[in-house]
This record gives sequence, structure tokens and C-alpha cells, in this order.
Amino acid sequence: MDCQIVPLSLPDGLQQPLSADVVIIGGGIMGVSSAFHLAEAGVKNVVLIERGELGTGSSAKPLGGVRATFSDPANVALGKRSLDAYGRFAGRFGVDIGLRRVGYLFLCRSSAEVLDCERSTLVQNEFGSNSRMVTPDEAVEINPFVAKEALLGASYSPEDGFAEPAKAVQAYAAAATALGVKILTGTEAFAIETTNGSINSVVTNRGTIRTESVICAAGAWSRKIGDMAGVELPVTPVRRQIGMTRQQSVPYPEVPFTLDLSTTMYFHNYYNGMLLGISNDEDPGFGRDYSHEWLPEFNAAARVCAPSLAEPDLEFGWAGLYENTPDHNALIGASSEVSGFYYATGFSGHGFLQGPAVGELIRDMYLGRPGFMDASTFSADRFNNDLALVREVHII
Ligand SMILES: Cc1cc2nc3c(=O)[nH]c(=O)nc-3n(C[C@H](O)[C@H](O)[C@H](O)COP(=O)(O)OP(=O)(O)OC[C@H]3O[C@@H](n4cnc5c(N)ncnc54)[C@H](O)[C@@H]3O)c2cc1C
Repeated sequence: MDCQIVPLSLPDGLQQPLSADVVIIGGGIMGVSSAFHLAEAGVKNVVLIERGELGTGSSAKPLGGVRATFSDPANVALGKRSLDAYGRFAGRFGVDIGLRRVGYLFLCRSSAEVLDCERSTLVQNEFGSNSRMVTPDEAVEINPFVAKEALLGASYSPEDGFAEPAKAVQAYAAAATALGVKILTGTEAFAIETTNGSINSVVTNRGTIRTESVICAAGAWSRKIGDMAGVELPVTPVRRQIGMTRQQSVPYPEVPFTLDLSTTMYFHNYYNGMLLGISNDEDPGFGRDYSHEWLPEFNAAARVCAPSLAEPDLEFGWAGLYENTPDHNALIGASSEVSGFYYATGFSGHGFLQGPAVGELIRDMYLGRPGFMDASTFSADRFNNDLALVREVHII
């Protein structure tokens, strides 16, 4: 399916002031999923603006894990709904997003981690996931890279896996375009004009778009979009890096997306090679230059958990941004201060796997109808009020 981007006729400004029922800022997985779900529900005049090309923010990650393996019921609900949607994606959109349901294996190296994962699997099972705890022996059978002596146990969820975010972004964008959404690339939001707490327009490098509604789907750059409207979105960018080993003539055995809870070291197959990463110590910032700075922490963890992957023979690497919130959970909601301002951001490293469900939630919030779940737990207000923060074990 080709994605038809609507070109603006004048590079230096919109020919006519454009108007939209809703302007979505950001062309990553959240922006395009929201655009598609709104248009599918019959919202007529949706404009998505992306300052670069679609999917060139964090959604450019070469492969993204998809899972319902979380501890907080709201995260499990988002993950499961999205996992099911990705499972139906090829049939629905006619696009193969490279979904490989190889499972997720969370390694537990302390009794506290075992207890956490036991509790989590019970929650996941309530949502229909068939995750379960496995012994160290079973973990090694499932993933021969893993060092049995390092483990006390693991949680294994066979229906999780990974897919190709770029293909999902393009497919949602194409489907949204077919339903009438205007996607304007090379179009950067500079300002959001408001009067008495209501939105009037979005000012871009190419002109002004009149609108009463804005959806912020600007990933790691969302704080600035919030500031434009006077809405506090506590999103902090942190560089995260991965490395891909050389492709092997004899492929590695197929293993689950495997993650060590103690260190966040993770790995899974990357075609005939492996994809490796860790959430190493990193100062906040927007820099996305790749470096090997993550490797010492990865190697130290790998020597304990998966020794044959230490000192990997990397062919290339990739750096992107986590869009972290104070509790490392999403911000999904509508501003209580600025009418018509919606946000889907702050996914803190697990946005690809929540994209389909979040698009549905944003659609329903915009239409003022109940969603498939109560998403109030993800409101940005939780940091200002006495609302409980989301306590999630399975974040990295
Ligand atoms: C190393 C790494 C590993 C990850 N692994 C996983 C994983 O396994 N599974 C998973 O689910 N997630 C993973 N993630 C996280 C996931 O990639 C993100 O959560 C997700 O892509 C966020 O999507 P988004 O649409 O919110 O943001 P983005 O994809 O970043 O899109 C935001 C877009 O907004 C645009 N934008 C910003 N400001 C403006 C403006 N002023 N005007 C117009 N456009 C603007 C940007 O150009 C960008 O394209 C990982 C991230 C990294 C970095």
C-alpha cells in the first residue's frame, strides 16, 4: 500500500489558510495510529503535520518489541489490545509488518523479581495472555544463550514478539490517507494560538492551520508542544542505543525477546544476526548520534546472563530517544486547562507496542465517548494531583 502524502503547493507558506477539525502534531506511530482511528470513525477534516518524514523519530527503531507483559493492569490492557491489533494487521491493512511472535522472556535474578513476575503473570492471565513462570532449566531450553546459574526463574509469554515499526507507520499513514487524512511532512509546529483556554490555530513553518483541536503526538519533543499551548507535559528525552551483530551464514537459534530485569540488558534475533541493547546510564538530551558508550554496561550484564553475547561483533548501531516521564509510563488524555488539547506521548520506551490501542483511546476521547478501557490513570494530571502514579515493573 503506497502512502500518498499531500504536498503543500507553496514551500514558503500555505496558499490558503488551512483549517482542520483536528491537527495531529507528530508522524510517528502515535500520530498515524490516531489519524487512522479518527478517520475510520468518520472524523472528516484531520490534518497530521510532521516536521521531517513520517516515522523518523523514535518510531524509526529497526525492530520493536510488542508485548502484553506488564505488571500494571492498564499497561497490560494497552499491550494486549495492541498485540491483538498487530496480530490482525496483515489481514486488515494488507501489509506484512514483520510480526514474529517469538515470545518475551523476562529473566529474574532475585527473589523480589521472581515475586514481581509471578504477580505480573497473574494480572496478564486475567487479560487473556498465556504468560507463565518458568524454571531456570526451562528458560535455558527456551533460550540457549541464557546462563542457567544466573537465574532464579523467568516469566515467559509466548504470544509476544517483535515487528517492524516503519512498516506499521507507513501502513497506518496509507490507510489514514485513503480515508481523507491530510499528511503534511516537512511541516513543523512553531506555536499554538489560544484564547481564554481554547485553541484557535497551529502556526507552522509553512503557514497557519485554523483548528480547535490539537493532538500532541510529538514523542520526545512533546514538552515543547505542551509549552506552546500552556499545558505541562513532563517528557524528558534520553538517548537509547542498540547494536546489530553481523548477519551469520548459519543463523542463530530463534530465541524470545529476552530481557534481564536486574540490568535491563536485552537481546533478540535480528534476521540472521542479533539485536542487543541496555538502558545504560545516560544524561537527558536530544542528541541521537550513535556511539559505543552503552557497550561496557551491556558486556558486564551479558557476561553474567548470556556470556556468549558479551563483546559482540557489531555490524552497525542505532540511537533513538526514549520519551521518559517521571514514572516511566505514558501520558494519554485531554488537558483539563486548554480545551481541545489532547496528548499521546511519554511512552518511555514502550510506545510502539501501545500504538494501536492508544490511537483508539485518543479517537474516543476526541469523540467524547467511552473507550475500551479506563485510561484516566495515564492523565498528565497524576503528577500535579494526589493521584497514584503507575507502578510498573516491566519498564526498561
Ligand atoms: C533504542 C530504543 C528501543 C526501543 N524499543 C522499543 C520496543 O522494543 N518496543 C516499543 O514498543 N517501543 C520501543 N521503543 C520506544 C518507541 O520507539 C517509542 O515509544 C515510539 O516510537 C514513540 O512513538 P511516537 O509516535 O510517540 O513518537 P516518535 O516516533 O518519536 O514521533 C514523534 C514525531 O513528532 C515529530 N515532531 C516533533 N516535534 C514536532 C513539531 N514541532 N512539529 C511537527 N512534528 C514534530 C518528530 O519529528 C517525530 O517524527 C524504543 C525506543 C528506543 C530509542
